[in-house]
Amino acid sequence: MDTKLGYIKNLNKDKKYIVEASDVIKNGGIVAFPTETVYGLGANALNIDAVKKIFKAKGRPQDNPLIVHISSKEVLDEITLEVPRIANIIMDRFWPGPLTMIFKKKDIIPNETSAGLNTIGIRMPSDEVALNLIKEAGVPIAAPSANISGRPSPTDMETCILDLNGRVDYILGSDSSEVGVESTILDITCNPPCILRPGGITLEMLKEIDDKIYIDKSLLDKNDKNLKPKAPGMKYKHYAPKAKVRLVEGSIEKTVEKINEMMHNYIDDGLKVGIMVTDETLSNYKDGVIISLGSRNNLSTIAKKLFSTLREFDNNNVDVIISESFEDTGLGLAIMNRLRKACGFDIIKV
Ligand code: AMP
Ligand code: MG
Repeated sequence: MDTKLGYIKNLNKDKKYIVEASDVIKNGGIVAFPTETVYGLGANALNIDAVKKIFKAKGRPQDNPLIVHISSKEVLDEITLEVPRIANIIMDRFWPGPLTMIFKKKDIIPNETSAGLNTIGIRMPSDEVALNLIKEAGVPIAAPSANISGRPSPTDMETCILDLNGRVDYILGSDSSEVGVESTILDITCNPPCILRPGGITLEMLKEIDDKIYIDKSLLDKNDKNLKPKAPGMKYKHYAPKAKVRLVEGSIEKTVEKINEMMHNYIDDGLKVGIMVTDETLSNYKDGVIISLGSRNNLSTIAKKLFSTLREFDNNNVDVIISESFEDTGLGLAIMNRLRKACGFDIIKV
């Protein structure tokens, strides 16, 4: 398949690319496009054949539902059975933005989009290119992240091209994604609402609206095999670079010590090692491919750089990546969720 590319530097001047990409959506094709969380791979959420193309292009498991992106709240009446009061309050505060809410769906949303569930995740992105694309297409756009399934999500156009060139109809590029990790998913079909995936809108921010909002326990305790994640997608290994990922959790001092010890063992075994660290600890490491995610005082930067850094290690052909950890609070929870999944929950506690 020939993939057409369009790059938006200035939304006013480059509007023609929005029109081209929206025509592809209207005609049942698939388009990779920027959002503030990560780049998405979109299709008309109401068109079964178009939605099937997303699963095929990504190699996505059929039981992993898609998130539907909208550009105005009015659309909710057309695609959901009800909008609970709390959802209205939450969307007034956090939409447009990196928050998906799970609603009961109307039949107009095909089962292919919701992977057979009677609920549907919906989000209004804040990225201007994304909003304009949805408006111009005139339909809700179903869009998972624009990567081959299992790989780290793309946060820039180049990465979408690497994963999807020749597999999709159009790749629409713009700036790199501001948040860098996928949206928070909040199930508001239950009471109190439950976070199914941590993301850019934090538990602390949501608790300001309802103190009872909590996190799906399966996300925190992977040792309890009886706990099944409520978001189907959360059970898959995810966000994995080609290299093996090892995650070290504990105090900074012990972490630094452990990472150095592991690194030298790997090097002795003839492996090329990458270490993912922070500005505060950088000077404690001397060997291997060392990349800092930024300062621990600025978790937004760390989230923003996380996926592109995992892919940078792959470009350096390392065999194993050893990563430091972060606190499970604020945006740290979303960062740790991605890291734990990237290492397949093979965590070294020190
Ligand atoms: P992605 O778009 O690649 O970030 O993946 C979407 C995520 O949202 C996956 O983890 C899905 O399992 C989750 N999701 C989408 N729709 C629903 C739903 N109706 N109920 C629970 N989780 C959902
Ligand atoms: Mg994804």
